[in-house]
Amino acid sequence: MDRDYYEVLGVEKNASDSEVKKAYRKQAVKYHPDRNEGSKEAEEKFKDLAEAYSVLSDTKKRQMYDQFGKEGLRGAGFSPGFSSVDDIFSSFGSLFDDLFGFGFGGNRTRSRTGPRRGSDLRYDLEVSFHEAVLGTDRELTLTHPVPCEACQGSGAAPGTSRKTCTRCGGSGQLMQSQGFFTIATTCPLCQGAGQVIENPCTDCQGSGEVSQDRNVSVTIPAGVDDGTRMRLTGEGTAGDRGGPAGDLYVFLHVLPDENFVRDGNDLHTEVVIHFVQAVLGASIEIPLIEGSKIIDVRAGSQPGDLIKLKGEGVPRLRGHGQGNLVVHLKVEIPKKINSEQKDLLRKFADSAKIEVGKKKKSGFFERMKNG
Ligand SMILES: [Zn+2]
Ligand SMILES: [Zn+2]
Repeated sequence: MDRDYYEVLGVEKNASDSEVKKAYRKQAVKYHPDRNEGSKEAEEKFKDLAEAYSVLSDTKKRQMYDQFGKEGLRGAGFSPGFSSVDDIFSSFGSLFDDLFGFGFGGNRTRSRTGPRRGSDLRYDLEVSFHEAVLGTDRELTLTHPVPCEACQGSGAAPGTSRKTCTRCGGSGQLMQSQGFFTIATTCPLCQGAGQVIENPCTDCQGSGEVSQDRNVSVTIPAGVDDGTRMRLTGEGTAGDRGGPAGDLYVFLHVLPDENFVRDGNDLHTEVVIHFVQAVLGASIEIPLIEGSKIIDVRAGSQPGDLIKLKGEGVPRLRGHGQGNLVVHLKVEIPKKINSEQKDLLRKFADSAKIEVGKKKKSGFFERMKNG
C-alpha cells in the first residue's frame, strides 16, 4: 500500500488515539468481510485499514512513521501490513465484538479456513404472567438450515456437479467501465456464486440446504420479567470445520394478567369490598399467584387503603426471598338497596345525627324566586 495512513483512515495528522480508533472501526465495519462476502476490493480496503490502524494506534510506531515514513518503520524492524483477513481478526477482532458478536448471524471470530463459530440465534417466547412468576419448563422448536444429505450440500443433483459460470468465468462479478471507474456488479446469471447448477438437487431445490427441526428444552426460572433475555450456550447454529456452536438467546415476553400488575418484585391487586365491610371490618378472600388467601380488613378502612402481604410477591431472580403483594382496597357503594335496608340506614342516620333525604329547597335560587 502506498497511500498515507492518515488518509486511509480519514483522520487529521493530529488526531487523538480515540479518534483514530473510532475512524478505524467505522471504516472497517463498512468493509468487513461479513458484509462484503467475496468482494476482493472490500478485502483489500479492509487490509489497508488494518495496516494503517496497526501503526497509528501504536504510539511508538506512529512517532516513527510521522518522522521517517514507512521506510523508517521497516528500518526499525516493523513490517506493517497483513497477509490475510484472519491475521487482522486475531489482532483486532476484539474491536468488533460489540458490533458483530451479538449480531444474530455475525460471527465473533471470523476465519476463512480454520474452525468457524456458528451463528447466534434469537427466539422470542411468550409466557403467561403466572409462568413468569412461578417459573416453568418449555420446549422450543427451532428450525435450522442443515446441509442437504442427498447432494452433500452442493445443490447439484446426485451424480452431477456445479459448473463454472460462463458469464463471469467463475468470479461472480462483472466489471463495467464507467468513465474513469471500473464498477463491479454481481453476476446476474450465478448471483455472485461463480458457479451454476444445471441439474438442481430435488431434495433442496438446488440450495444445498434443507430445514431441520430441533427441540430445545428451556427452564425458565421463577421471577423472570418482560424483556428478560436468557442465553443458552451452544444451542445456536452448529459451527463449521469443528468450530463451536453459537448461542441461543431467548427473549421473554410476559403476557399481562387480569388480577395482578407487577412492579419490580412486588405485585399489586385490587379488591372490592362493600362499604359496610369497610365500616365494620371483615375477612375477605384475595387472589394469590397460586390459590387464594383470607385476610382481615380492619373496621374503618378507607377507599384506597393498602394492605401489604409480605413475601407473596415475585421471587427475586438473583438472590433470595420474594417481593410483596400489595392489596388496594376499593369500597363499593351499592346503587340499589331494598326498603328494609333503607329503613335500617335511616335509623343509622338518626343515631349518628346525619341529615339524609331530600330537603325543601332553600338554596340561593329558591330565595331569588320567593323574593
Ligand atoms: Zn456468473
Ligand atoms: Zn440437495
